[in-house]
Amino acid sequence: MAGNESPGKGNVVVISGPSGVGKSTVCKRLCERLPARFSVSVTTRPPRPNEQSARDYDFVSPEEFTRLRDSGGLLEWAQVYGHLYGTPLAEVEKAVREGRTIILEIDIQGCIQVRSKLPEAKTFFLMPPTPEEQRRRIEGRRTDDAESIRRRLEKADGEIRYAMESGCYDAFIVNDDLDEAVNKIEAFIRQGGCAR
Ligand code: 5GP
Repeated sequence: MAGNESPGKGNVVVISGPSGVGKSTVCKRLCERLPARFSVSVTTRPPRPNEQSARDYDFVSPEEFTRLRDSGGLLEWAQVYGHLYGTPLAEVEKAVREGRTIILEIDIQGCIQVRSKLPEAKTFFLMPPTPEEQRRRIEGRRTDDAESIRRRLEKADGEIRYAMESGCYDAFIVNDDLDEAVNKIEAFIRQGGCAR
């Protein structure tokens, strides 16, 4: 049994970053490598054409979201780009109890909440190599309309500043080369090389 699978040693790993930075791909790779489970968030955002319920998100109505949140079912939650997103608490608790690693792909507001509840969480902020590359990636996935792309790119600069000032991240990782980025995060997690 690998070290990170032994009971009581589960890691909670947070991956954040601006839109188009490659968070989903990095999370997918990390899940295979570590191994780890991906925390499927609940959201009120409508599914994109390539997304599957229960694999990418649990797509819920605003009423269902509010019910879950108000009954204490979420570890953290936030409103992002006009939609509600949250991390189901039960899955995280189960992973930690079983000594498994779980990966949360969440925004900065969510990371701040996770940090305050689980100070031992390992938190990473992915950075785009350049703004041009970020635009290319968002446009390339052909899932967002022009207005959504504009809003997401406009928000990126502010997000990077907010992430740095929040003091909430163990490491900032530039996602230039996918393998390198994943290797760095994996090394941080395995060697306990995080700041906290
Ligand atoms: P998208 O709509 O592109 O899938 O996600 C938009 C933003 O919401 C991303 O920054 C993503 O990391 C964040 N997000 C996704 N799930 C959650 C969640 O459960 N909690 C929080 N706080 N943010 C989330």
